[in-house]
Amino acid sequence: MNPTDVSGLPSGVPDVLRESGIEELYPPQAAAVDAGVTEGESVVASVPTASGKTLVAELAMLSSVHRGGKALYVVPLRALASEKKAEFERWSDFGVEVGISTGNYESSEEWLASRDVVVATSEKVDSLVRNGAPWIDDLTCVVADEVHLVDDPSRGPTLEVTLAKLRRINPGLQTVALSATVDNADEVADWLDAELVKSDWRPVDLRTGVHYGDAITFADGEQREVPVGRGERPTAALLDDTLSEGGSSLVFVNSRRNAEAAARRGADVAEDHLTDDERDDLAALADEVAGVSDTETSEDLAAVVERGAAFHHAGLSAEHRSLVEDAFRDRLLKVICATPTLAAGVNTPSRRVIVRDWRRYDGEFGGMKPLDTLEVHQMFGRAGRPGLDPYGEAVLIAKDHDAMDQLFDRYVEAEPEPVQSKLAREPAMRTHLLATVASGFARTRSGLLDFLDRTLYAAQSEGTERLESVVDSTLDYLVANDFVERDGEEITATALGHTVSRLYLDPMSAAEIVDGLRDAEDPSPLGLYHLVCRTPDMYELYLKSGDRETYTERCYEREDEFLGRVPSEFEDVRFEEWLSALKTAKLLEDWAREVDEDRITERYGVGPGDVRGKVDTAEWLLGAAERLAVELDLDCAVAVREAKKRVADGVREELLDLTGVRGVGRKRARRLYEAGVESRADLREAEKSVVLGALRGRERTAERVLENAGREDPSMEGVSVAEASADGEDGDGDGSDADTRRAGDGSAADSGDQQASLGDFE
Ligand code: ADP
Repeated sequence: MNPTDVSGLPSGVPDVLRESGIEELYPPQAAAVDAGVTEGESVVASVPTASGKTLVAELAMLSSVHRGGKALYVVPLRALASEKKAEFERWSDFGVEVGISTGNYESSEEWLASRDVVVATSEKVDSLVRNGAPWIDDLTCVVADEVHLVDDPSRGPTLEVTLAKLRRINPGLQTVALSATVDNADEVADWLDAELVKSDWRPVDLRTGVHYGDAITFADGEQREVPVGRGERPTAALLDDTLSEGGSSLVFVNSRRNAEAAARRGADVAEDHLTDDERDDLAALADEVAGVSDTETSEDLAAVVERGAAFHHAGLSAEHRSLVEDAFRDRLLKVICATPTLAAGVNTPSRRVIVRDWRRYDGEFGGMKPLDTLEVHQMFGRAGRPGLDPYGEAVLIAKDHDAMDQLFDRYVEAEPEPVQSKLAREPAMRTHLLATVASGFARTRSGLLDFLDRTLYAAQSEGTERLESVVDSTLDYLVANDFVERDGEEITATALGHTVSRLYLDPMSAAEIVDGLRDAEDPSPLGLYHLVCRTPDMYELYLKSGDRETYTERCYEREDEFLGRVPSEFEDVRFEEWLSALKTAKLLEDWAREVDEDRITERYGVGPGDVRGKVDTAEWLLGAAERLAVELDLDCAVAVREAKKRVADGVREELLDLTGVRGVGRKRARRLYEAGVESRADLREAEKSVVLGALRGRERTAERVLENAGREDPSMEGVSVAEASADGEDGDGDGSDADTRRAGDGSAADSGDQQASLGDFE
């Protein structure tokens, strides 16, 4: 089908498409158009990765806006929102204005009312509905990207309920759902009252297989020799093999740290295949990468990019990601080592895909868990560059013959799992029932059941018995905790319940926090960190061997600080959870005591991204705790705010004023403080040479910091570094372990911080 044959679009759209290389619609796209996707019809498109789902969404949104409507594009990951926005901005010549909703959970972002297309995550849309954003009523088209994620136990229910709510608010809403190929896509289509477009078509053929020993065995029985030398890793042999034919590879691994390590080894292979011109271009690219930010990630990435490889994970900034992706598409970078999360949504086709790790650590599972077939198939789908490769190759790696058989069974020959609603899981039910009542979607038990009848869960269950019983027990829970009141038939949210819903908390987290705060007179930061760490909204660190003893000891040392009753050692499961929360809280405490990040990662056996993740979650939960304390008129609100600020900035109390200045992080703040510049006011007055010295002689940085602190003349021209501070520049002792140098909070655990390790030797 030629784009000119598509009805419902503004004229000129086919020209824009042609300019970006789209002359003909791909068959699944044509099928979606035949199903009426540009005429306002709802469509579920279940097609393989890289077969052009995004264009289906764009055609739907363009035509909807052309008819005077407004579209919402729901992304599966926040990190993808800006990429999608940039993609859709190519329609600005047609008067389509794109907005991205990234604000915090409590705002209704009214300015989005003026945008024609809004891009947001499902959590964000859910919270916009909860906070009553008026423009939600104006939507005419909603696109759910990667709708098969309704199957995800933690995030799926939000997507599911959000779609149900949007469809309830706007009965005529066009729903376009994009899905990977799953067997029961028809159920999803039935649920959304949509036409199903299902296809296995791909723009490039795909061959899948397993490497074992000295060869890849493909599903069709053919073999390709890829010998592995002594001491060589199979991944390296596979990379070398593709490179010798001029092809690129995408390697999937299971963690950020592994992605970085694999990229270093990938670079060892790639650098032997580079031409002189490529080396020059890569050196320039590496400079650009290093210039993006002043972080270790920037430097590490630049170091591998220079040698033809890159890592790609959610810890990269958007700028890093686009530099890496563009250079890979331009065939300058030869190897990308990626974690699966992001790569699934990013368009980076390559000759060969290597799925190196097919297991990933899973806290709930309690160990390494095999990836779902669907997820691995999505990685496979990145193989084969249209117009460049005769076919794509996707390869798993087996250590022995049994593993090879297992990988064939599990991934190469298997069908992906069916999509199953996870809404009946307790946390999901608690959260969504409260929100549904609080935002007025339902006012009675039967109203609730009526609303839930629009979910995939209802569409997939026989009868209503299970649903009714989950609803009843959840309502009892919400009433018992004072979030909801029942008056005969009528169900309403209490003031507390409204707050909890708007704060986007799991009601169980809120209940735990409220109980703990009611108990607290003058809570310590550790006490507060522990309180939020034991809520279901915090993903706790798990205990490794030896940790039980270590943290039991700490638990008794700091017993006075905990908010709430410490479970007895005989309540096995509860006690264990208490200790896991304590370990997590200790990580936060270390962070707020300026322990160096590297030491924290080593001490707790986690990656830098995990530290960031815990800190962000703690900041959000403590912010919510502060709001609850205010709502309940509790004295501890100030202590909560302070604990929040300290963990957010990763500093001791005395640095909070300095870290309030933009551009001053924990390390810079500590160096300034040690040089005698102790506050924002000091920054306005201090000797410039002292400031410059504390900021390691970086003039531009110093100028920006002074400017941000409100200094009238921030210029560093002619200023040189003060003697005393210049001496301290060598080595990398910057701010690290301020803990060991300073007196500390005076709390009992300070001595414990000197322990070399807590048993985390993995
Ligand atoms: P998916 O979302 O299905 O994984 P994308 O929408 O990212 O796939 O599309 C993959 C690539 O195919 C993109 O680079 C896109 O520009 C290109 N593409 C999409 N439709 C066509 C088409 N009809 N003709 C040529 N290229 C296309």
